[in-house]
Amino acid sequence: MSDPKEQKVNERMEKIVSRCKRRGFIFQSSEIYGGINGFWDYGPLGAELKRNVKDYWWRSMTQLRNDVVGLDASIIMHPKVWEASGHTATFSDPMVDCLLTKKRFRADQIEPQSGTAYWYSGATDGNGKACKEPYAVLIPAGKHPEYARKVARKYYQQRGLENPTLLEERTEEMANSVRFNPDNGSLLTEPRPFNLMFKTYVGPVESPDNAAYLRPETAQAIFAQFKTVLEVSRQKLPFGICQIGKAFRNEINPRNFTFRSREFEQMELEFFIKPDATAQAKDGPPPAEVPVDAPQPNWGWKEWHRYWVEQRVKWYESIGLTREALDFYWQKPEELAHYAKATVDILFKFPFGAQELEGIAARGDFDLTQHQKFSGKPMDYFDEEAKARYVPHVIEPSAGVDRLVLALICQAYQEETVTDDKGQAETRVVMKFHPRVAPIKVGVFPLLKNRPELVKKALEVRDHLRRYLTVFYDEAGAIGRRYRRQDEAGTPFGVTIDFDTLGEKPELLDTVTLRDRDTMQQIRVKISDLAPLLLQKLS
Ligand code: ATP
Repeated sequence: MSDPKEQKVNERMEKIVSRCKRRGFIFQSSEIYGGINGFWDYGPLGAELKRNVKDYWWRSMTQLRNDVVGLDASIIMHPKVWEASGHTATFSDPMVDCLLTKKRFRADQIEPQSGTAYWYSGATDGNGKACKEPYAVLIPAGKHPEYARKVARKYYQQRGLENPTLLEERTEEMANSVRFNPDNGSLLTEPRPFNLMFKTYVGPVESPDNAAYLRPETAQAIFAQFKTVLEVSRQKLPFGICQIGKAFRNEINPRNFTFRSREFEQMELEFFIKPDATAQAKDGPPPAEVPVDAPQPNWGWKEWHRYWVEQRVKWYESIGLTREALDFYWQKPEELAHYAKATVDILFKFPFGAQELEGIAARGDFDLTQHQKFSGKPMDYFDEEAKARYVPHVIEPSAGVDRLVLALICQAYQEETVTDDKGQAETRVVMKFHPRVAPIKVGVFPLLKNRPELVKKALEVRDHLRRYLTVFYDEAGAIGRRYRRQDEAGTPFGVTIDFDTLGEKPELLDTVTLRDRDTMQQIRVKISDLAPLLLQKLS
C-alpha cells in the first residue's frame, strides 16, 4: 500500500496533467505515433501562457531597465564554443542501466534501498552451458527469498540459459544502497558518464569534422558575442545581455511531466560586473548590510548576487508565485562548480517536491576567459572610469520557461465547492492564474445566442476589447457553463452583454456585467470604461 500523502500528490499531479491535455495547455509531442519521451507540445492555451511568461520576462529584463540588452542567437554554434565552455568534456550525468530490463537511470537520482541482497556467482543450465557473470537482487525485509531467485533466473535466461540453476547463493545486508533498481531489485550497472548534448552534422557529410551540437543552454552565445554586443549597444559595465530560447539536453530520465524535458526553453541573463578589486579600489567594499535593491558603484559580486536573487524573487511574486510557494537552496562549497563563487537555486514547491526553477550563479570571469583562450580573441574591457583593463565577472540568473509554466499551472489549479443556480453544491475547477500571465484575459458573452441584438452588441464589445487584450468570445450553452469553461482556462474576467446593455433599464444602457473569476462577484461597468479598467487590473 503506498503512503497516503504520496498518493494524494500523485492524484493532484495526475489531475493537473489530464486537465492540461483536455483544456489544451500541454500534451505529448507526436501523440498519434505514441509520443516521444521528453518532448511536449503546448496547445492553444499553453502557447498563450508560455508567450505571456516570456514576453513579461523580456520586458522586465530589457525594456524596463537601462542596463540589460537582448540577444537572439542561433541554436547551433561553432563546436569550439562547447569545448571552451567545458560542455564537450564534462556536460554529463552518471548513468546506470538495470541489468534485467535495461531501463536507464541517473545514478544520482536512485532512491536509496535497504534490505538483503542475494548474490549469485553465475548459473548453469545442465546442458553444459554456463554464465559466469555475477548478479544480485535486493529484496526488502519480509519479502520471500524466492522472489530474488526468480528474478535472477530471468536474468540468466536473458544471458542464453534456457533453464538456469543458480550458483553459490550468498546474502549481504544492505542499508541505503543505490546499486539496485528500485522497481524490481535487480542489480544496476556501474555508473558511466553520459554526455547530454544532442549531436548532429552540419552539411551533407556525416564526418567528425562536421559534427555540431544543439545548444544545451542559451548562455554560451551571450559570452561568445559579448564583445560585439558591448560595442553595438554602447553599454558600460555593469550591464547585462539576456536571451530567451530553446535548449536541448538528452536527459537520461525525462520525468515529472514537463519538469525535466529533452527540449525546453531557457530565459538567461549574463550580468557583467567589475572585479571586486576594481569596483572597490576607490571607496573600499560596501558595509555588510547594504540595501539589496540600490546598486552602488562599489558593489562586488556578493552584493550583485544578492541583488539578482532579490530581483528574481520579486519578479516571481509579480506573476503570482508567492514567497511561501518558493524555496531556496544555497549550494554547499563542495557542490559548487570549480569556477563558481556561489550558486543559489530558486525552488518551487511542486506537488512532487520542491524543485529548481532557476539557478543564480556568481561565475567569476571563467566563461569569458575560456572563450578568450579558445578563440584567441580578447574578451577584456577597458574601464574608462577606473582606467583599468580586465575580463568582466558575471552573475547569471538562469530560468526555465517550461518549469515556470508548470509551476504556474500547479499553483493556479484549484478545486472549489460552490453552489449552483439550483442551490446544489458542485465542484468548480478554476485556474487562478495571475492576470498578467493568464492565457486569455477576458471572456465576452451575449446572455442569449438566439437574440441577434445581444450577439451584435457582444461582437462589438469583443472587437473593441480585442485591440488591447486577448479576448475569447463564447455564445454556446448556458451562461453559467460558459463562466465555468473560462474558469477552467484561467480567464480572470468575464463580460456579459444582457438586455440592460441594450437599454431595457434605460439608466443601464451601454453597460455590461464584469465578473471576477476568483470572487465570482459581478459589477456593472460602462462599455467605454471597460478597456481602461481591465488594463489597469492587468498591470
Ligand atoms: P537540473 O539540476 O534540474 O538538471 P540544472 O541545474 O542542470 O537543472 P541549469 O543548467 O542551471 O539547470 O539550467 C538553468 C535552468 O534551465 C534550470 O533552472 C531549469 O529551469 C531549466 N532546465 C534545465 N534543464 C531542464 C530540463 N531538462 N527540462 C526543463 N528545464 C530545464
